[in-house]
Amino acid sequence: MSTLILGGGVTGLAAAWHLQRRGESVEVWEAGASVGGWMKTLPWEGGHFESGPQGVLWRKGTAVDRLFGAIDLSFKAPGNGARWVGKGGRLIPVPASPPALMFSALMPLGAKLRMMAEPFIPVRGAEPEEGLSAFIARRLGKGVATELLPAMVAGVLAAPAEILSVDAIPKLRQWEATGSLVNGIRKGGVSHMVVPEGGMGQLPIRLAAKLANVRTGLRAERIEALPDRRWRVSGGGEVREAERVIMALPAFEAAALLGSVAPQSAQALAAIPYTSVDLWHSRHAPLPALKDSFGFLIHPPEGHGYLGSLVPSWMDPQCAPAGVMQLRSFIGGAFGKPAELESWEGVYARLKHWVPSLGAASAMRHERAERAIPRPELGHRARVKAALEGLPAGVDWLSNARFGPGVRDILEGLEEWVG
Ligand SMILES: Cc1cc2nc3c(=O)[nH]c(=O)nc-3n(C[C@H](O)[C@H](O)[C@H](O)COP(=O)(O)OP(=O)(O)OC[C@H]3O[C@@H](n4cnc5c(N)ncnc54)[C@H](O)[C@@H]3O)c2cc1C
Repeated sequence: MSTLILGGGVTGLAAAWHLQRRGESVEVWEAGASVGGWMKTLPWEGGHFESGPQGVLWRKGTAVDRLFGAIDLSFKAPGNGARWVGKGGRLIPVPASPPALMFSALMPLGAKLRMMAEPFIPVRGAEPEEGLSAFIARRLGKGVATELLPAMVAGVLAAPAEILSVDAIPKLRQWEATGSLVNGIRKGGVSHMVVPEGGMGQLPIRLAAKLANVRTGLRAERIEALPDRRWRVSGGGEVREAERVIMALPAFEAAALLGSVAPQSAQALAAIPYTSVDLWHSRHAPLPALKDSFGFLIHPPEGHGYLGSLVPSWMDPQCAPAGVMQLRSFIGGAFGKPAELESWEGVYARLKHWVPSLGAASAMRHERAERAIPRPELGHRARVKAALEGLPAGVDWLSNARFGPGVRDILEGLEEWVG
């Protein structure tokens, strides 16, 4: 079977890698000048910064582990860094283990006691689709849904938990299906954040190097059906015919290509919203308080558009020159952003509010991630179902909006997809 994959982000490249391994003939078209999509490690004086993912959740024996092993990608596992949630005007440590949460100031005692009842809450059927906050309130109690969930979700999807579907984090339903979240986590095992040597961008680079036919700077502009169950794709002055076309693209890009070929799918995909987010990378003198720290997330009602900061120099020490602490702060998303967060001065003032001992930045840079993160709002399941059901034979759509937001979700989804 000949397959043309549109999109050379991690989804398209990993899909191509699976198919090529099965002996299929695969070509990848990537619109950008280089592969990786959001997964790019960009140079910054004396180090680098990530344009998208900071790390990937890894555990031995999982899809991520199998792929890393097969392409010989070495990585660093920094361990369990300290994490905080900014609430009540201060950073409160997030306990490393659920029992320790009983002693934490993150939630009132009643909420903690209710949380402990989770293993005894009956499993609910998958239908109808539940909201993310409603799901967490049902299983872990209202306290967790209102006091802890919003910051966690803002840190992954940059959106308010109340508007999202439980499908925004597919692992939750998978865990519940085993009897309870506690049981699901216990059975599945705990994953750890890891970073490939040289940064996340090494993953797509390594994948592309294993593939026979990857074209960059080639944007697909049109897909047409041919009478003999083949497909013709054109763009950038090139034309290709293939038995199968796989769109490894954000939903809105796939929708634009499908207009005349599969209008129902195009409409469903166009209805999946995406969130933009502002990222500020900054370098500072190291702080003992943030040593061995993953970073902190702010309870959204108190963040006013400032979602939190990670400490990349802890996860990936090569990203910053020796003796320098590198931060990455997330601004805006679906929460919107006040005018003062347009400038570094405004962002720094917010950082200082939560970490008063933080010194001035020796260097900083701003990146705008436009329509970067899918926003699986309630109704997402029906949109994805309509999109997939409306696709003609020989055309498919693979995306984090289908499999889940993280790289781990994508790689697990692809293993299942490829069979
Ligand atoms: C700021 C940010 C932080 C993140 N942090 C994490 C994290 O820490 N951990 C984690 O696991 N995940 C994280 N993620 C999520 C993760 O990065 C994404 O899920 C993943 O990179 C998506 O990959 P993709 O290939 O599906 O899409 P993309 O990366 O969007 O790739 C799609 C590709 O298709 C190309 N393209 C578009 N249109 C066309 C066309 N018509 N023809 C050809 N090519 C086309 C684009 O140029 C692009 O390269 C983060 C994402 C962002 C944005």
